[in-house]
Formats: sequence, C-alpha cells, structure tokens
Amino acid sequence: MIPLDGASMTSAGASSWQRALQEAVRDPAELCRLLDLPPAAQALIADLPSFPLLVPRSFVARMRRGDASDPLLRQVLPLSAERDAVPGFSADPLRERAVSAGGVLRKYAGRALLIASGACPVHCRYCFRREFPYPEQLAARNDWSAALAALRRETGVGEVILSGGDPLSLSNRRLGRLVEALARIPSLQRLRVHTRFPIMVPERVDEGLLGLLSATRLQTVIVVHANHPQEIDVEVANALLALKARTSALLNQSVLLKGVNDSADALAALSERLIDAGVLPYYLHMLDKVAGAAHFAVDDAAATGLVSELRARLPGYLVPRLVREIPGELSKTLIL
Ligand SMILES: *Cc1c(COP(=O)(O)O)cnc(C)c1O
Ligand code: SF4
Repeated sequence: MIPLDGASMTSAGASSWQRALQEAVRDPAELCRLLDLPPAAQALIADLPSFPLLVPRSFVARMRRGDASDPLLRQVLPLSAERDAVPGFSADPLRERAVSAGGVLRKYAGRALLIASGACPVHCRYCFRREFPYPEQLAARNDWSAALAALRRETGVGEVILSGGDPLSLSNRRLGRLVEALARIPSLQRLRVHTRFPIMVPERVDEGLLGLLSATRLQTVIVVHANHPQEIDVEVANALLALKARTSALLNQSVLLKGVNDSADALAALSERLIDAGVLPYYLHMLDKVAGAAHFAVDDAAATGLVSELRARLPGYLVPRLVREIPGELSKTLIL
C-alpha cells in the first residue's frame, strides 16, 4: 500500500477526514494502551508486520476496552500468527496481477474495475489485496489518461467500478475530475464506488463528496464494507443516510471472518443495523486465501449453515448472497 493522497498536507490545509487519517493509530503498542489490553494478548502481536497497522481513532472508540477478542479489533490487529505459512494461502489468490492492465481490471461482462487509489482508511488483516503491487497497478499515478483510454476502447462496458485500495482516499477535487472524465465516455451509464471510508471515517461523507455524486449524469451505486453491527454507530449511520439520499443504490459487502462475524446473531444484527442506515446487504464473501489470513477462515459447511439460519430469521432482502471468487470464473460464484 502507498501513502494517502493528501497525507503530506499540513493539518491547516487538510479537511477533517484527512486529519482523522493523519492522526490514525499506527503503533500496536499505542493501540494496546488505548484499549487496556491484557499482557497475554499483547504477546500475540507481530512486531513490524509487512502490512502495517493502520486504524482510525473513531474506529478504536467503537471497540470494547480490555477485550482482545473484540470483533472490530480482530479485523485490524496484526498477530504473529500471520507469518505462519499455510498451504493454499498465497500472495495473489485471485491471480489479479495477470488480468490487470494499467490499473483497469476487466474480469466480468459489462463491468470494468479501476484501481483508483492504493491507499485505505484502515488496514484489514484479511484483505486479499494486502500484497497487491499498487505502485505498478495504480491507474492514477499522475493522470488518468491511460485508464480512461482503456475504458473508451471497451465499448461493452456500461459500468465502471472505482476500487482500490479505497477510491475515497482521493481528494474531492481529484475524484471530481475523474468522475467528470468518466461521465464524458458515452457508453458508461453507471458509476459504482467500493469504499470502506463511510464506515471507518464517516467525516469523509462531506458536502464536497455529496455534491459531486449529485452533479454527475451517471447513476451512482455505492458499496460500503462493514462486517459487524458494532461498526455502525450514530455518526456512521448518519453518514450512510446522507449518502443514501444521493445515490441510486447503497449496498454493503462483508467478509465472513472467524472470530468476527461467524455467528447468525452477529450477521442478523448487522443486516438490521444496515437497513436502519438505508443500506441493503449485497454480498457475504468467503475469505480469499491470501497469505497471513488463514486464521480468519470459515469452512463452507459452517458458512452455508449461517446463511440458512439468516434466511429463516430475516426478510429475504436482508439476507446477503454468500459468494466466493474463483479465478477465471465469469462472475462471483454463488454458494447460497
Ligand atoms: C467483484 C468484482 C466486480 C463486481 O462484481 P459484481 O458481481 O457485479 O458485484 C467486478 N470486477 C471485478 C474485477 C471484481 O472482482
Ligand atoms: S478490505 Fe478494503 S479497506 Fe480493508 S485493506 Fe482491503 S482494500 Fe483496504
């Protein structure tokens, strides 16, 4: 991963979300202090992991103090267990390096995915892109022209997905310029944004962002990423409701993670929190087998059992689709 767009700005020139990121916790020892973690828990933490700790303070504030198994903490805390080599877990489990050209990934019909930024508001330990070579694959290094040219050539593409990293790491000015350029491509109808920012740093949903979503001729779809109901506090819910008012669809994707959300109670409560905030559950992803994340794996039988239980408890529109990504397939593979 690479430094955040605008991260070198002085505090005076930065907006509140940029300040929240500059002030994010980067030191595991500080995180342990803030949360009063017991020494036994501290002993399991990796020093100097290759994918460093990064977590915004407002997310830390949503964690329970003194509880090393808090579901939010588990998503961000680097454990020494990440170093264990586990058969079947590799650096590029989706073989994306082979399909990416100039930061545009074209795997599925009608949709192209643009790696708009290598930076994220948080480092999720289970992330399948934790080992992704962003400096080579970034669409944006200095300008968007190569990526835009690739999209103009792809006449069958009606939807562009901004992904990353997190595309909302871009300043509103740069994001606005990108969206305007995309809107000038006649074949594009929809703009989809995959982002964890509204969950991690709700201040990111500011007037500038809402304005540029309203201004574009493109239909906009926003897909956020929350895994556990405790992530959605009042500030996050308000940010989501503000987004909802400006978009055609507001969806959530989660990753099924052992020790985080592998219970029907957690998943059902998540769906309820989401709909309260105007968000519909979209995907529940099986973990991608990226090296360092094996301790999060949930097996297929347990996963299908959980989703069956959700289906028995919730209205159909609150049950996410359980999917897995298999390299070479023409879409995500539906499990249940
Ligand atoms: C997941 C993904 C998409 C979007 O797939 P949907 O099923 O439409 O959500 C598009 N491109 C790539 C490369 C993806 O990984
Ligand atoms: S899961 Fe999303 S927000 Fe988390 S590190 Fe990966 S790309 Fe970034």
